[in-house]
This record gives sequence, C-alpha cells and structure tokens, in this order.
Amino acid sequence: MLKCAWCMKKIKEDKEVFTINIKFVEGKKISDSDGRMIHIHLESRNTSVPMIIPGENSEAKLEGIDGIFTICSQKCGDKMRASLAKEIAMFKDVVMNAT
Ligand SMILES: [Zn+2]
Repeated sequence: MLKCAWCMKKIKEDKEVFTINIKFVEGKKISDSDGRMIHIHLESRNTSVPMIIPGENSEAKLEGIDGIFTICSQKCGDKMRASLAKEIAMFKDVVMNAT
C-alpha cells in the first residue's frame, strides 16, 4: 500500500496518485538493482519519509530519475515540493506529475 510522503495517509488504489520525481545531487546517489522503498530523512521536516528507489533497468531510472515520492493530493504535493526545495544539499530537479 502506498503512503503519501507528506501526510502519511494511505493512498487508495482507485484514487489518483501524484508523484514527485527527484534527482540526487552529485555524490548522494542511492541505487538499487531491483528497486525498493526506503525512508529518507528530510532536514527541513526533521522526519523520515517513504521514497521509492527505481530499479536499475526501470523506465524511471532510464529517464534519469533517482527517487519517487508518492503523494495523495495536489495540496500535499505543493507542500512537499516547497519542503524539497529547501533540501538543496540533497535533491535537484524536483518534478511533480499526476498519474
Ligand atoms: Zn497527503
């Protein structure tokens, strides 16, 4: 079950899911050949949030995406993006999509 990386609510499968794709800055790479869910600490929120690391041969990885946050709503996405924008030591190219 996916959780919103901002409010931590479970995202129901029949609902629209938003994603925020990020790239890590140089030297911060986390990679996994099979892809997995990790928890990543956000300084600006002083908490850890769930993030998906795409597998080595996944479509996301081939597009240069290093990590994916799942988000339940536009509102949470806007807050999450604002928070990620402060984490410039960690992330770059923060892009939100609706699926
Ligand atoms: Zn949410």
